[in-house]
Amino acid sequence: MTTDLDAAASEASIRPCGWPDCPERFDAYGHIFTGANVQPGWRQSSVVGYLGPAHGDTVHLPRLERTEIGADVTCDCGWRHTDPPTLGAAGELWRDHVREACRG
Ligand SMILES: [Zn+2]
Ligand SMILES: [Zn+2]
Repeated sequence: MTTDLDAAASEASIRPCGWPDCPERFDAYGHIFTGANVQPGWRQSSVVGYLGPAHGDTVHLPRLERTEIGADVTCDCGWRHTDPPTLGAAGELWRDHVREACRG
């Protein structure tokens, strides 16, 4: 039996993949009890939250790199954007970069 409360709790714990236009999701609620931060194959990212198993072999992994004036957002492929105004903007800039890099 599923109550409304259960449904609300599980919806609140759904974590989306940070990859642009990716439909992957996982339920973080189930992992509270196992002590694991993420499901197997998922990776945490300080920039976009989580990245799903479909991107396990990608060269595009976003990171934040502290600088004297703030932080740059960088990608493992070598891409970098200097001093994005917010973390949200950093994620969007990185997603734009991945869309561009994966086109064609
Ligand atoms: Zn994904
Ligand atoms: Zn990249």
